[in-house]
Amino acid sequence: MTAITVVSPSSGKELGEVTAHTAEDTRNAFDRARPAQRRWQATPVKERRKVLLKLHDLVLERRDEILDLIQDETGKNRTSAFEEVMDVAITARHCGYAAGRLLRPKRAKTSLPGLTRTRVEHDPVGVVGMISPWNYPFSLTAGDAIAALAMGNAVVLKPDSQTPYTGLLVADLLREAGLPENVFQAVTGSGSVVGQEIVAQCDYLMFTGSTATGRKLGEQAGERLVGYSAELGGKNPMIIADDADLERTVPGARAACFSNSGQLCISIERLYVHRGIADEFIPAFVDSVAGMRIGGGHDWETDMGSLISEEHCEHVAAMVDDAVAKGARVLTGGRRLTDLGPTFYAPTLLADVPEDAELFREETFGPVVAVEVVDSLDEAVLKANDTRYGLNASVWANPATGSKLASRLHAGTVNVNEGFAAAWSSVGAPMGGWKDSGVGRRHGDGGMLKYTEARTVAVQHLMSISGNTLVDPDVFAKTVTTALKFGKRILR
Ligand code: NAD
Repeated sequence: MTAITVVSPSSGKELGEVTAHTAEDTRNAFDRARPAQRRWQATPVKERRKVLLKLHDLVLERRDEILDLIQDETGKNRTSAFEEVMDVAITARHCGYAAGRLLRPKRAKTSLPGLTRTRVEHDPVGVVGMISPWNYPFSLTAGDAIAALAMGNAVVLKPDSQTPYTGLLVADLLREAGLPENVFQAVTGSGSVVGQEIVAQCDYLMFTGSTATGRKLGEQAGERLVGYSAELGGKNPMIIADDADLERTVPGARAACFSNSGQLCISIERLYVHRGIADEFIPAFVDSVAGMRIGGGHDWETDMGSLISEEHCEHVAAMVDDAVAKGARVLTGGRRLTDLGPTFYAPTLLADVPEDAELFREETFGPVVAVEVVDSLDEAVLKANDTRYGLNASVWANPATGSKLASRLHAGTVNVNEGFAAAWSSVGAPMGGWKDSGVGRRHGDGGMLKYTEARTVAVQHLMSISGNTLVDPDVFAKTVTTALKFGKRILR
């Protein structure tokens, strides 16, 4: 058994070593999870709710310890880490209360009202496999697990190898909240070993990560005919209309672009500014971004932290250099901040990014935003939708204009006068990607029901819709024909 060394990206300090588990270890985790899941499924929903509500309290009580760990593992600033704590508490509360309503059997419409009584029940799928990325290691492990657990499933999670301690902390917190042993297990290790075995064993696969990996795992889930949900990459646009409130838009756009150093699937990488406001907005925005405080450490004052690794920083720098070499203009940033360390990159705004630059279409997943002035909102909508992705979009405008514009954007979430937080935190509404940004949704009723199998139970009284021996077939056909004609008018 080998080990994975975990290094803090902002300080370069070694945080420790975790086990690189094997395929056999992962199978064993599933073997332990199966009986534990059956007992958990048999636990009354009210008892399961208590565990999730206790988790909610624990997360808030142990907030600072959780923030420190997230920051140490990812290098993000404290405010971005707090987004994760807030998210997990909100999700625990929401799923804790929603599960009872969703799991209650529901009456369903039938074609022979009164004669057929139909109800729909939901059973948990069994053991859900989860594979998570490093960028929001608390939200994208605990948040998704909570929904599956609330519905009576067990979970086997593979946290990213760069952020395994946060995944292990989720297991500790759930245990402390009263979750029985083996209902949630975090198995550390590589994607090619532990991740692949999770794909081979699970009854449902929840994946968050890159579009390339998501596509491959989708094929594998399809081969096994297990349910699959994937939240993938984005190249999210923001539109700034000429009637936007500048005072709110400047700080709002900054948060939307540079939260978590731009390493956020729903953060903004393309900005379309209406010509009518461009002369006011762009200089104010450039000033605001140029004035950001960058650094490591656990204080609340830092506006942006480091990137996840030196390798990722090099990748971001290479994309910016490619754009600049092809004619893009740097409005601010555009360079590594080596005086702070090898993983820091300046928050960057680019203008005139040419179509042949890689970052024109591809996700940078870093603090880099292309700014473009447009002559009309129609042009902005066309450009915003001209992408293979469709995860998130943002519109800053008078609320009525913004709301109308939102309905024309091809994205799973659209935030009006907000970057991403309004839609993400609307936990009762679906969140996920169109096009290459994913399949399936998290949040909303669907984001919980996906972790269940539906069972339709129909009880027939007297006459059947398929004809029966009690009535002459000709009389039956005439009666049903009349009933259908009549039914069209009264049953909708
Ligand atoms: P990635 O796909 O390389 O890795 C994500 C996870 O998958 C990791 O845990 C990794 O170990 C595992 N993995 C990789 N290859 C695997 C394989 N063959 N089999 C099984 N598991 C495997 O993603 P990344 O680059 O680390 O993460 C960044 C990407 O994630 C970005 O594209 C970002 O947009 C996306 N993301 C999307 C969301 C969302 O909700 N839509 C959220 C966060 C990140």
